[in-house]
Amino acid sequence: MDYKLWIDGKWVDSQGGEKMQIENPATGERIAEVQGASRADVDRAVQAAKSAFYDGRWSRKTPSERSKAIWKLADLLEANSEEFARVESENTGKPYKFLSLASDVPFTVDNLRFFATAARDTHGSHAGEFMAGYTSIYRREPVGVIGQITPWNYPLNMAGWKIGPALAAGCTIVLKPAPGTPLTTLMLAELIKEAGIPDGVVNIIAGGNDAGQALTEHPDVRMICVTGSSGTGKKVMKTAADTLKRVHLELGGKAPFIVFDDSDPELVAAKASFAATANTGQDCTAATRIYVEKGRAKDMREAVVEAMRNTKVGLPFDDGVVMGPLISGIQRERVSGFVDRAKSQGAKILTGGGVPKDLQKGYYYEPTVISDVQQDWEIVQSEVFGPVITVQEFDNEEQALHFGNDVLYGLAASVFTKDVGRAMRLTSQLEFGTVWVNDHLPITSETPHGGFKQSGFGKDLSAEAVGDYQITKHVMIAQ
Ligand code: NAD
Repeated sequence: MDYKLWIDGKWVDSQGGEKMQIENPATGERIAEVQGASRADVDRAVQAAKSAFYDGRWSRKTPSERSKAIWKLADLLEANSEEFARVESENTGKPYKFLSLASDVPFTVDNLRFFATAARDTHGSHAGEFMAGYTSIYRREPVGVIGQITPWNYPLNMAGWKIGPALAAGCTIVLKPAPGTPLTTLMLAELIKEAGIPDGVVNIIAGGNDAGQALTEHPDVRMICVTGSSGTGKKVMKTAADTLKRVHLELGGKAPFIVFDDSDPELVAAKASFAATANTGQDCTAATRIYVEKGRAKDMREAVVEAMRNTKVGLPFDDGVVMGPLISGIQRERVSGFVDRAKSQGAKILTGGGVPKDLQKGYYYEPTVISDVQQDWEIVQSEVFGPVITVQEFDNEEQALHFGNDVLYGLAASVFTKDVGRAMRLTSQLEFGTVWVNDHLPITSETPHGGFKQSGFGKDLSAEAVGDYQITKHVMIAQ
């Protein structure tokens, strides 16, 4: 499981980069050593992507050829599902059967198949006469060399979400996974080659934040795409300004989960506990703030607490486990810090709030429900990124809407009600990139995923993602 850098279709040694120790968060044991990219390595990877872009070995392939190769990559990933799922679970602590094998790997396969199809979409390219004596042609062209930077929470999914649309558009890529979780992204390298995608088109370099910074600064990179925290997004946007490159940012979230009295408490409890604990709450769209209408607040709260208590937490490879550890010791300190500060402000911990007694090894944290919090407290306003949910009450629709929107983030939100008119009003007024009604978390390859406000801009997934990697050229021909 030890890896070098993948540049121009080969494994190469880093020139001066640091070695990174990769650990299993369920046990704290070291599972791999990976070479991190230095600034010189970032430049080598960008030069490989640049040659591959300008000689047209990918950008001038026909849409049909591009589609075929992306589809083959999906097939190869599917054929290696168990191996990818196993390594994803070892590297992130995700439950193997429940998440890695049932969701992360097959969803990435489906995403790639969607982008293989989207590669053949001719939308946006057309011709017409708009001035007497001239024909105008709009060409949708690939943007060029793309720098892509991913987070640790869904390493394989995020790699697929980034390379799929960029490849469909005809771009070439330097992809940098998060420092602690690069394994499944690096494992994709040889499948990319086997799929027939030419050398140099996708370069994969592990590395720290400094490698991401070097990629963002690089003058030959035409667009930088980051999935990460809002703080990182702000830094990247400032750095990218120096070379005026395009910026595509999928950032943090703090999703409200708004429950009206007419909802079924069992449905609410099942959806809230799943949406708060899936991937141990380390999900940008996780349900984090429950707002319940006053009338039946007690019933709803008790149902949610019961469901959170019943969430089966355990070792990633044990049967029936739906929640694994947090990603690292640092992340667990961060999560418990938020909970402890809320407690000292006067919040009540209805369940959880500590390390499970039988899971002292690794970085486990209990599913946690917190009440008696105020809207302006840190626990309600900031992204905790752990299995922690707050519960507050509201008097009416107007207040629910105010609470829901009253954060800096705008990635995802949900509304639970049987009143269709009310659901429609709220979906139009909630300032979030995704709003679910009577559910929270489902996602498909066809539908755009991305933020409003400080959750960033640009879309992953859907045909819109492919459009984000294209640029329109107007060609005007005198007749
Ligand atoms: P992070 O911001 O710490 O790091 C993300 C990536 O950015 C890493 O690869 C990191 O090395 C790189 N990076 C950090 N500083 C950089 C810099 N100055 N220049 C260039 N690259 C830099 O995020 P994380 O802790 O890995 O991931 C968790 C965050 O990701 C959460 O905030 C979560 O909400 C967000 N996230 C968002 C989405 C989405 O679709 N909006 C999806 C998943 C995760």
